[in-house]
Amino acid sequence: MAGKRTFTMIKPDAFEAGHSGAILKMIEEAGFKVVAMKATILSRELAGKFYEVHKERPFYQDLCAYMSSGPIFAAILEKDNAVDDFRKLIGATNPADAAEGTIRKLFATSIEANAVHGSDSDENASIEGNFFFSQFERVV
Ligand code: ATP
Ligand code: MG
Repeated sequence: MAGKRTFTMIKPDAFEAGHSGAILKMIEEAGFKVVAMKATILSRELAGKFYEVHKERPFYQDLCAYMSSGPIFAAILEKDNAVDDFRKLIGATNPADAAEGTIRKLFATSIEANAVHGSDSDENASIEGNFFFSQFERVV
């Protein structure tokens, strides 16, 4: 059965450009409830851990530098079919391929600086949420 939670980050490009409010509005209007959220800055080391699955990819070092380059919002979102519905809301990794009306189509500037993260499975949603939030913090 599809899970009810996913994990997202508003990435440094969107945070810096002041798009966080507009992105959160789209997320809420799509029916997601924010059940945990924080503004934070990833260290280079933590960015490397978060994206460890990509460590053999040619863009890994750049990705870690970019993701630790400034503040982000990290959030756990709740909705039926959360993972798949959120991936639809954000659109393709490369904004050039993202569907009209998706968050990445509207706010991403490149395949790397693509505005938001969305978990790709229920298992990773749980791992990624726990990476940023302790059980104690998830009070909603
Ligand atoms: P995310 O995991 O951030 O939600 P995604 O699942 O759509 O994105 P992944 O393949 O998991 O895409 O890539 C993780 C991130 O690495 C991308 O969101 C993007 O920031 C960066 N990235 C992916 N492919 C490239 C690429 N070819 N060149 C540069 N950066 C890339
Ligand atoms: Mg991914």
